[in-house]
Amino acid sequence: MRICRFDGDRFGLVEGNDVRDVTSAFASLSQQSYPFPRTDQMIANLATLRPAIEAAARNAPVLALDSLKLLSPIANPGKIVAAPVNYKKHLDEARGDAEIHHQNQVGEIQRVGLFLKATSSVVGCGEGVAMRHMDRRNDHEIELAVVIGETADRVSHDDALNYVAGYCIGLDMTIRGPEERSLRKSVDTFTVLGPYFVTADEIGDPAGLDLELTVDGEKRQLANTRDLILDVKTLISWASSFYTLHPGDVILTGTPEGVGPVLPGNTIRATIARIGTMEVAVRQLPPR
Ligand code: MN
Repeated sequence: MRICRFDGDRFGLVEGNDVRDVTSAFASLSQQSYPFPRTDQMIANLATLRPAIEAAARNAPVLALDSLKLLSPIANPGKIVAAPVNYKKHLDEARGDAEIHHQNQVGEIQRVGLFLKATSSVVGCGEGVAMRHMDRRNDHEIELAVVIGETADRVSHDDALNYVAGYCIGLDMTIRGPEERSLRKSVDTFTVLGPYFVTADEIGDPAGLDLELTVDGEKRQLANTRDLILDVKTLISWASSFYTLHPGDVILTGTPEGVGPVLPGNTIRATIARIGTMEVAVRQLPPR
């Protein structure tokens, strides 16, 4: 199943370019009171939502996916866990380019660990990326985004995929420079998730997925998730050894080689096999 969120918080079941508006199926999620749970309620209730979505789709009007303003399919991720330098060729690239490493020691992921991005940085592909700090280099990073489906506390490597609800394409947008990653990568709009959420049963094994990113048609990144240093299972197992993962938490699995700068006016096109393609416009945030 492929679920998008669009326009004013409407939800759609995606089949090719057809979107069936199934917002009515989400009505049962609104019966919450303060303090609201820090989990994404669509993902936490996916098992009961799926039949409701299928039922709602039967009589739903059909919209065109490419006519919708797509928001992040995960509305309320509790945390965004991210893997630094998790492809060998990107590690080599980062160590070899002063504009990327900025005199920071670029260590192996096994030594550096994982980092967190602010949830306030999350947008959908229809919202685009808004650059600020125009004097700095702002880079694209395509990454497979894993959406956690079940509460995961110290899960084993072999069990890890049982905790996955599904996947999306992720962009881990980055200001290059000497500061902590969590600052440089948490700019508003710097975590793009989209174009929609794909349930795990449609993907199967997340190893072996081609990723491709172009900027204004120019090929920048082309890789395959089989070249991840720490694969999806290892990332889930390792992350959950430190903190409990909750439904709707997102793991950005790291970017391959070919990172590079974007400028206002550029269009980023990101594709991951078996998920789809999203286009993301880059603009400059107007001054206050
Ligand atoms: Mn990254």
